Amino acid sequence: MKMGKVVLVGAGPGDPGLLTIKGRQAIEQAEVVVYDRLVSQAILNLIPEDAERINVGKESANHLVPQEGINRILLEQALEGKRVVRLKGGDPFLFGRGGEELELLAEHGVPFEEVPGITSAIAAAAYAGIPVTHRDYCSSLHIVTGHQRAGKPLDIPFDALVNTKGTLVFLMGVSALENICEGLLKAGMEPDMPAAVVEKGTTPAQRPILATLATLPREARARQVKSPAIIVVGRVCALSPQFDWFDRLALKGRSVIVTRPKERAGTLADRLRALGADVTEFPCIRTVPMEPCTQMEQAVEKIDEYQWLVFTSPAGVSTLMAYLDRIHRDVRALGRIRLAAIGPGTDRELRKHGLRADLIPQVYDGAHLGQALCDAAPEGRVLILRAQWGSPALTDALERCKISYDDIRCYETEYTCPETEQVRTLLEQEPAPVVTFTSASTVTGFVSALKGADLSGITAACIGEQTRAEAQKHGLHTITAEKATMDALIQRIVEGGSQWN
Ligand code: SAH
Repeated sequence: MKMGKVVLVGAGPGDPGLLTIKGRQAIEQAEVVVYDRLVSQAILNLIPEDAERINVGKESANHLVPQEGINRILLEQALEGKRVVRLKGGDPFLFGRGGEELELLAEHGVPFEEVPGITSAIAAAAYAGIPVTHRDYCSSLHIVTGHQRAGKPLDIPFDALVNTKGTLVFLMGVSALENICEGLLKAGMEPDMPAAVVEKGTTPAQRPILATLATLPREARARQVKSPAIIVVGRVCALSPQFDWFDRLALKGRSVIVTRPKERAGTLADRLRALGADVTEFPCIRTVPMEPCTQMEQAVEKIDEYQWLVFTSPAGVSTLMAYLDRIHRDVRALGRIRLAAIGPGTDRELRKHGLRADLIPQVYDGAHLGQALCDAAPEGRVLILRAQWGSPALTDALERCKISYDDIRCYETEYTCPETEQVRTLLEQEPAPVVTFTSASTVTGFVSALKGADLSGITAACIGEQTRAEAQKHGLHTITAEKATMDALIQRIVEGGSQWN
């Protein structure tokens, strides 16, 4: 039987954007993923749907798999011939026991690779505005484990560390914080040496606490710091108030639920995360091409009879392109037809196929698209390829100006019902989350997936009027983008944010 392979991947400290490109490729190709507690949901979402997921870090249910157990799982899966990814927080070889996990594999001749990750020791400090080295302050960095075995004294060479005059970062040190600070003081470090704790670094829940070596334990206790957190000791900590960029982001700490279909959620979610938002992806609709779609097939055969081809969403474009591909044809099958797109997102989808919209209305909705077509005064017939439940606003406008058209339904919107547990918990938190809606169908999908939940606290951030109308029908509190684009929607959420904070 063919031998599998194990790739040890560092998932980074929490912010999913800090996963490496190589790490992401390994995850996307995995057949089995063995992961830890500290790996973020957004990274777990990259695991292919048909891959097996093995959680070896379920501490809450007392399911924590002992190290030997993990080693054995990796070996067994690889011997079954599978591509195994072992996902670990931060960097696998920095206090991650990555070395131990490779030993058994090496003994059995199982091939493996290691993809380094960004360590919390550097990244959590960086996100709190602390550069771990700075020419004016220090010339070395020391990363130390603060893990203390029960009943044993800390085994840390405090004198040597203090003598280096370098920056000190302690991992796994929350419970030993007092002993660590005391050890450094006893070894002669000044009590007013700047020091910090960064809890849940690089995540939306990041909490930095700045103090001095003498006051840090008290401050941390008063604010009930919990693991995971790093402890940083050194003069570089004094730079934090000046460089603390992450906690100043416009949506820092704000919880946002993104309801787009899975394949389109990525960019909106990433952009909100880049603004510091705590994003949960909750795809409650998906578009499914209608197959076969005889009407569309016939329209393609007589495409010369049409002057305009109209798309009201990216899904219309991809449905048509997928069909052309299936019959071994390409965009040339569309001849010289003119193209209309409801907005820039649909135009972007056209551009992926080397096409460009000739017409995009000023306001991105059906009524304005219809009016823009009227203004273009077509001489020939108009072909519309859109969703089964498309709004009548577009065709009403065409009828008013007596344009002849074929309105062909080529894909359906399906409501999917993902796991709702995580979202239900978010709904109970204060302040309640913002939920983004990029079409009326995402509203319907969201509301029906969450039957029985109290939605009165949430803010529904809607892309346009139709979406807003649907949200109001369900009694949701709404804010609406000034223009139906992702930019405007994000802008609106940020503006709303200044009132919330
Ligand atoms: N391999 C990991 C470290 C594993 S040891 C890495 O390179 O980051 C676990 C310790 O890492 C925790 O006790 C904590 O000190 C630190 N840690 C991990 N993630 C963290 C985060 N998001 N913020 C602060 N500290 C973190």
